[in-house]
Amino acid sequence: MGLLSQGSPLSWEETRRHAEHVRKHGILQFLHIYRALRDRHKDVLKWGDEVEYMLVKFDHENKKVRLVLCGEEVLQTLQDKGEKVNPNHPTLWRPEYGSYMIEGTPGQPYGGTMSEFNTVQDNMRKRRQEAASVLKENEAVCTVTSFPSTLTRNIRHRRGEKVVINVPIFKDKNTPSPFIETFPNDDGEAAKAAKPDYIYMDAMGFGMGNCCLQVTFQACSISEARYLYDQLATICPIVMALSAASPFYRGYVSDIDCRWGVISASVDDRTREERGLEPLKNNHYRISKSRYDSIDSYLSECGEKYNDIDLTIDKDIYEHLIKEGIDHLLAQHIAHLFIRDPLTLFEEKIHLDDANESDHFENIQSTNWQTMRFKPPPPNSDIGWRVEFRPMEVQLTDFENSAYVVFVVLLTRVILSYKLDFLIPLSKVDENMKMAQKRDAVRQGMFYFRKDICKGGNAVVDGCGSAQNGTGTDAEEYTLMSIDTIINGKEGVFPGLIPILNSYLENMEVDVDTRCTILNYLKLIKKRASGELMTVARWMREFIAQHPDYKQDSVITDEMNYSLIWKCNQIAQGQAECPELLGVGFNKKQSGNKTGSL
Ligand code: GLU
Ligand code: MG
Repeated sequence: MGLLSQGSPLSWEETRRHAEHVRKHGILQFLHIYRALRDRHKDVLKWGDEVEYMLVKFDHENKKVRLVLCGEEVLQTLQDKGEKVNPNHPTLWRPEYGSYMIEGTPGQPYGGTMSEFNTVQDNMRKRRQEAASVLKENEAVCTVTSFPSTLTRNIRHRRGEKVVINVPIFKDKNTPSPFIETFPNDDGEAAKAAKPDYIYMDAMGFGMGNCCLQVTFQACSISEARYLYDQLATICPIVMALSAASPFYRGYVSDIDCRWGVISASVDDRTREERGLEPLKNNHYRISKSRYDSIDSYLSECGEKYNDIDLTIDKDIYEHLIKEGIDHLLAQHIAHLFIRDPLTLFEEKIHLDDANESDHFENIQSTNWQTMRFKPPPPNSDIGWRVEFRPMEVQLTDFENSAYVVFVVLLTRVILSYKLDFLIPLSKVDENMKMAQKRDAVRQGMFYFRKDICKGGNAVVDGCGSAQNGTGTDAEEYTLMSIDTIINGKEGVFPGLIPILNSYLENMEVDVDTRCTILNYLKLIKKRASGELMTVARWMREFIAQHPDYKQDSVITDEMNYSLIWKCNQIAQGQAECPELLGVGFNKKQSGNKTGSL
């Protein structure tokens, strides 16, 4: 989530008064970091995952399950027992948006050796057990992306009205048509904003209250980070569709499978002027996207010709950065992030030492929640240039979450080793993002993808190989493909990412146990992509459709919600099998590794 610091938060009016100050010093802080660290290189690969968890409580007698608002307490206990007493503790716990949420990461980043892939699932299992061990009776820690059944001040104040989230309803046999909700305690706002055939939600919590799975990598240099940022941006919609896990909202079955658009709308703090609904008077610009959305520009030189989205930037900041020697692509990226206001500010954190602190930079940076995040090193640390991969939905089990994480990390290795080039115009990536959220996109969606990904030539990271030649992009470079084709390949059309990963692995020295673990992860991804195994979203839909209480009217009752979350919990604990989701035989990783780990 970023920036959940402690201190005395200022009101929106006070925060707004300091917005220019935060932006100005944020840029100075960025410049200090850039000047000190732009030539930093030879950092080794380090990476880590972040899993967001929900805390729930089962009421078995009344067949209900509720979110429990005990995150702060749980966090305190976990930290007191873990990182505070042992700096080498294997897990780290952090707050997340909702007070029923917590976020867990490995205690130390993973390194660049293959055998570490064999420890990911163990660490996730430790986290799950550790969190569960501090809960009360009937409470559980769950990795579901959106909680099916029925939370922020400054987003709303800045925007000037409530956020509006409309998610299309899934039209089942008995769903009323049109589907129109009535809101008993409405002050008129809901009736105005709700649309027929949509599920209406009106608060930040409906979006930011959802959970995800993220991976952060340390690159060896700033140019490698920029290259990976661009390449992975094109992969975001593909992996999001593959990880689809959130079909239900506010007690209804929706017609979407992913959380992305819901969160995007839930933190959309643009005013009516910025959204283009009224002439610009008090605001500076029209802004085409929410703060939570897909990226708007590529950062590497090879990406430049594919930057075909209108980019709103703060011109003064852009010129300042250029004057200070920052190149056009990086300057426009930062000047774009900095069109936003800070959302929170703490009284104790207004006047900072720009050479040694970066809170103002991080304030704006970490409330731009895009599919990818380019992360400069923190001042005075041994951390290098990093990128964060943010689109994935969290899966039910540690096995699945490990599989997705390892898949993405391995992909970065082949991108770098084989100098792959996935770039297509960013507007096409945006179209893919829309497609990826649709119901069953993994089996039915078609996605723009680059046909020849091996063209990069010798110097993709520092130069652009052959991709840089000429201006304008060639529509022949990409075509529509299914996720199955992109992931598994299709004779004569596309080699497939998994076959490429497999050939990379064949050339690597990997111990047998680790290889087996990795192959099982890749098998899951492969079978999800081909549709042989279900995504979590599809599995949840089928579970509800087959529930004896379901009336085919798109309504999820408390009791249905209870049985769904109970089942999810059992699957996550390994107490219930779920071959349609996980396959058979390859997800049986035993706790404790015999070989392979460092
Ligand atoms: N929970 C948010 C999501 O599902 C991400 C919050 C964060 O950046 O940690 O994308
Ligand atoms: Mg988080």
